[in-house]
Amino acid sequence: MLRRRALLALLASSALANTAQGGAPLQIVATIGQIADLASRLAGERAVVRALMGEGVDPHTYRQTRADVLTLRRADLVLAVGLWLEAQLVDLLTALATEKPVLLLAERLPPERLLAHPDFPGKFDPHVWMDVALWSELVPILEVELARLDPADAAGYRERARAYRAELAALERYVRRVLATVPPERRVLVTAHDAFGYFGRAYGFEVHGIQGLSTESEAGLAEIERLVRLIVERRIGAVFVESSVAERNVRALVEGAAARGHEVRIGGQLFSDAMDAPGTYEGTYVGMIDHNVTVIARALGGEAPPRGMNGRLATVG
Ligand SMILES: [Zn+2]
Repeated sequence: MLRRRALLALLASSALANTAQGGAPLQIVATIGQIADLASRLAGERAVVRALMGEGVDPHTYRQTRADVLTLRRADLVLAVGLWLEAQLVDLLTALATEKPVLLLAERLPPERLLAHPDFPGKFDPHVWMDVALWSELVPILEVELARLDPADAAGYRERARAYRAELAALERYVRRVLATVPPERRVLVTAHDAFGYFGRAYGFEVHGIQGLSTESEAGLAEIERLVRLIVERRIGAVFVESSVAERNVRALVEGAAARGHEVRIGGQLFSDAMDAPGTYEGTYVGMIDHNVTVIARALGGEAPPRGMNGRLATVG
């Protein structure tokens, strides 16, 4: 076993050497789509980027398949969010890190920029992509790593990183402009799980998830009851489902509020931990955030163009 591992490490490093000499493109494997999208924007033609998890997949509970293990073994670089987002993959990623570069991107952010986990001291909320400016801080971190693995195109990585940061800055401006139109008393976001903590901090929203930071534990009836009370007392008009979490808990809120004479509707589906299908606009990071803020603003009494920042949204909130 050990000998086999050493051989794999050797193969991995010779693959890197090939790339550095201008040979085959880098093979990059990312856990979630948000990271795969970031990597392919920075790497351009220099890499083949794959995501293990596609649309609708929940990273908190995802377990690798046999095909995933093969894909990861062949990768030159493995990218994950870290901070226990990919809880079931931690052992595998730790083992891979003895053979090849495994970058846990969110763990490279300064700890003072992270939100503390409410239940586990010393742990942090992993959903860092929900704050566009914070996500943008990963661009130079990944750029440096890619240029280190593929120094022949260091200038290309620098240029693509610069262009992508400008795109993210434009996205951030749209997000702030649109969310500012939501009346202050309606800036309350109720969703299926606590994926929106960074969103709330960045854009001034109060956020409530039915399940906690992870979907691994089921929501209790007491939690659903607490949120129904909140929705009724605050006269909240819309709650949101998430594409990677079952809808039943959100439906329970709608029914619970109705039983108390308050009508709350489902304001739309948000992309929280998974993006939409590859090849769609909502299957990119920019598209997923555009979709989310457009849906949220329109459902909570704000103003946003029905097809979003640049007219590319397929679904209207
Ligand atoms: Zn999550």
